[in-house]
Amino acid sequence: MTDQDRGAIGLAERMLGLLDEGSFSATYKYALLMALLDLCLEKMSGRGVPPETVTTRQLAEKVVELYWPHAAPYRGQHVLRQGGVRQGNQAEIVSAIAAHRAGVARDPDQPVFRARLADPERFEKLVRFVEWKLIEMPIPRLQWVGPEEIRFLYEYAWTKHVRQSEVSAYQRGAPRTFDNRLLLRAGVAENLVRLNGLLRPLLHREWARMVAAMNRLPESELDDFLFGATRVPLDPVRAPLLSLQAGRCFYCQTRLSGPSEVDHFIPWARYPNNGLENLVVAHARCNNRKRDFLAAARHVENWSGRARAHASDLEVVASELDWERDPSRSRSVAVAIYSRLPEEARLWERESELVAMERPRILAALGRLAA
Ligand SMILES: [Zn+2]
Repeated sequence: MTDQDRGAIGLAERMLGLLDEGSFSATYKYALLMALLDLCLEKMSGRGVPPETVTTRQLAEKVVELYWPHAAPYRGQHVLRQGGVRQGNQAEIVSAIAAHRAGVARDPDQPVFRARLADPERFEKLVRFVEWKLIEMPIPRLQWVGPEEIRFLYEYAWTKHVRQSEVSAYQRGAPRTFDNRLLLRAGVAENLVRLNGLLRPLLHREWARMVAAMNRLPESELDDFLFGATRVPLDPVRAPLLSLQAGRCFYCQTRLSGPSEVDHFIPWARYPNNGLENLVVAHARCNNRKRDFLAAARHVENWSGRARAHASDLEVVASELDWERDPSRSRSVAVAIYSRLPEEARLWERESELVAMERPRILAALGRLAA
């Protein structure tokens, strides 16, 4: 076992300790850990160097994104409880997002980036409020296990006496009123990325379990509502993407006749991303075979080739459909995931065929994506 393997296992052990810790009365623990995990993937440099810091601002944006689908009424009725001590109370962050949604995004499938565009000023207020809430409680609280705080994930510079006025001043751009950085401990970002395939479903399950218990619902019903890929209909992108693929299935390259599906190239289960560059059209049959596997080198080359050859077409489609698009984030995530897979990982080639990972070939293809 390498030192790095030992580091990853040690971190996993401590994360399990955090998940067991019962002092959080809201689901903030899960949101914060998930936000950290996502940011470590998104901020991986093109050369595969993980981030050393994340900011409270980045965490706040991420937390809004994570709670966004949760804060729509469940089955058209009411917003699910995610905290609060007394019955009927709600976690403040969820309340704020739900209130925002009720104002600008009545469609329960409205993705967060569209809500941001719909009313940027109001959205900015929401993010600032969430940032303050994170600074006040969950960030300093997260690393308490039992009677003491052990800062094994991150270090930060404020104390429990931090005042909202200091944070507001920094949010308005006043210099040096507040240090918004979380300094990640050595190896933390690296190991979070390595553990992504394991931690993500674990966090989802624990999170769904807490929401289920708070709302007296069966856990099995909630997973899809809270974390599923099906909430945003992908149908609008099918025709334009198919035309960029010259009418062929992205994976088997034969003509697409019969049922087709829009697939997440980097599987949703690894990192949820409806960005246009992460979507491809495939035979329903090919897509069902691929499932949650990562695609093999040949497909990564085609994916990278499409992103380069059709960058401006993708841009046009995104703006015509008012669709989300963030090529550099998608590329960072792909680099993070492929570069940290264990050597023995098997990737999906075709039908039920899995092949060995050709890491150099894959990283070379992703490297060509750099602008
Ligand atoms: Zn196919």
